[in-house]
Amino acid sequence: MTKKLLYLLLAALCAASCLFGCYGADGPARSSAPGGPSAADSSETPATESGSAPVPAAEGKLRVHYIDVGQGDSVFIELPDGEYMLIDCGERDCAGRVISFIDRLGCEKIDYLLATHPHTDHMGGMAQVIGSFAIGRIFMPDVVATHSSFSAMLAAISEKGAKIETVSPGFFIFEKEDLRAEVLGPLRITPENLNNCSVVLKLQYGGTSFLFAADAEKDEEAELVGAYGEKLKSDAVKIGHHGSADSSSEEFVRAVGAKIGIISCGAGNPYGHPNRGVMTRWLDSGMETLLRTDLEGTVTVVSDGETVSVGKERAETEYKWVLNLNGKKIHRPDCEGVPGIAERNRVFSVRTLAELEKQGFSPCGKCRPEE
Ligand SMILES: [Zn+2]
Ligand SMILES: [Zn+2]
Repeated sequence: MTKKLLYLLLAALCAASCLFGCYGADGPARSSAPGGPSAADSSETPATESGSAPVPAAEGKLRVHYIDVGQGDSVFIELPDGEYMLIDCGERDCAGRVISFIDRLGCEKIDYLLATHPHTDHMGGMAQVIGSFAIGRIFMPDVVATHSSFSAMLAAISEKGAKIETVSPGFFIFEKEDLRAEVLGPLRITPENLNNCSVVLKLQYGGTSFLFAADAEKDEEAELVGAYGEKLKSDAVKIGHHGSADSSSEEFVRAVGAKIGIISCGAGNPYGHPNRGVMTRWLDSGMETLLRTDLEGTVTVVSDGETVSVGKERAETEYKWVLNLNGKKIHRPDCEGVPGIAERNRVFSVRTLAELEKQGFSPCGKCRPEE
């Protein structure tokens, strides 16, 4: 089967089956422009498969895309030298979405592929992803699983003639002039808890750094804090385990001290992710921006080697609502109450009103948002 055919098939499969874990490929209609009516030409923005098309990295920029895969994790990274890296790919149902996202960036080869641990919300679609692109090197922790997604992934790898590199702390996925990706965890393999076998990765570009905590829970976090202390300090963190209360211990949060945090989880998920106390802990530690894929969809964080910022896709994505996490209100972007919402409580959302109401949000009485 050709790559294009496979991709089309997967996209169709995803559209048909993404009910809970992964939002339908069409996503919600995004009709209102950022900043409300003052933004020009919003009505002429063409609707695309999942909002605005990803913008390929400008030379010299590191772009980290936290892809909305519902309840799961998938991070696609455009390295400043033109190489690509994928960390996890969400459930199998989301493979079409991940493949099309990568494809639209013009990537034909994933140079570095990391499956952080063998839970299906992280590697369920790996067989499909591996089958759709040329693959460079593949990395995993030293644990296995018996489920069918894992065996399908192994079969896809052997079909490609690729091999798996088992990684442990101190291993560098790459180490270039001013760019390196170092494996910090897991310091210990605990087959009875695969989350604590998560590969925790620190990516550094110039003077900036990103930490990817996968599903590490408090035990692994404690070992990381003990082993690395200050070295965990990062500008941006993919918060562990979908913002669950099992992760983000006080000590770990303090050690990482990131200004930008990303929580990857599904809207209205049955696990109650993200935990409110976890979000408060990060924000109280000095985090300035907390991004959530359940509310905002795919989010991008960019580094030029000196500073880290939220990608402009966020501003350009035509979000529908502005949420106030304090009081859980839904506002139209032009509501007079919006400028007064503290940044830490303000979230730009692409979800439908019905989805948000299921999450406990209610419409503002003044601007009366309607679909
Ligand atoms: Zn997970
Ligand atoms: Zn997990």
